[in-house]
Amino acid sequence: MRLLFFFLLTLGVPGLDVASLHPLITDAVKQVGGDRVKVVEVIKPGDNVHQFKPKPGDLRAMAEARLIFASGKNLEPYLDELSDNLEPHQLIIEVGKTLPSQKVSKEDQIYACCEHHAVGGIDPHWWHDVRNMERALRVIEKALIKADPEGKQAYSANSKKQRDRLDQLNRWVKGQVATIPRERRHLVTAHAAFGYFCKAYGFKASFVQGLSARGEVSASQLAGTIQELRREGIPMVFPEKSANPKVLEQIAQQTGAKVGQPLIADGSSASYQEMIMSNVRHIVGGLK
Ligand SMILES: [Zn+2]
Ligand SMILES: [Zn+2]
Repeated sequence: MRLLFFFLLTLGVPGLDVASLHPLITDAVKQVGGDRVKVVEVIKPGDNVHQFKPKPGDLRAMAEARLIFASGKNLEPYLDELSDNLEPHQLIIEVGKTLPSQKVSKEDQIYACCEHHAVGGIDPHWWHDVRNMERALRVIEKALIKADPEGKQAYSANSKKQRDRLDQLNRWVKGQVATIPRERRHLVTAHAAFGYFCKAYGFKASFVQGLSARGEVSASQLAGTIQELRREGIPMVFPEKSANPKVLEQIAQQTGAKVGQPLIADGSSASYQEMIMSNVRHIVGGLK
């Protein structure tokens, strides 16, 4: 009887409560989880993922979550501390952990996205290579199946469908990039946040804006960059959404380049697919 009651109780309940610490991961978890998974969005679209630290209210919000999805690659330096505050049945899944890493080189550390990723860092923005997001869906799929084996069929089917979509997206990106003459595939952005994109799709990458705190770019470094951009006749430099475009505007003035539409580094209210397509359209429109 008690067993029957328990059975009836679980019948109406969705498979799994989880939480997400990154808007792009939220998007991915919802796609793979479908109806079975309830996702608490601890970090909302547009929040600064680089400066976030969980507050008591955030911990309360994820109290029911059995899995807590993080982006990994040290984007969230607070994970150890968070882990100490969790219940034994709660598990943090660092989605990006097993994906290939792009190091921020020693010369480029002053251009890192934020102070956490400046010193000897790994670029945390792995999602700008679409194939990495395909791999991430697999990681999410496996974690959901482990926590909720009954949902295996649904999770695998959802994951496969989304990975097929991303496969098409990846082909679309390559096709778009192919319309830019090879010698113009040089992406100039404020910070070093598009390294994975540049590597995956064959761009040379340059950055211009230093971290305001420790690693300010020197006048001679800036002059060197300006000279290089002039020499190459770079037509456009790209600001990032929610970052100050002042240095880029100065550089544009001195090199004759235009300041392009802002690129999205960390996800926004748009879906992953929309973010990639928006970035690629802006890049292709500006450089070809
Ligand atoms: Zn950062
Ligand atoms: Zn970022």
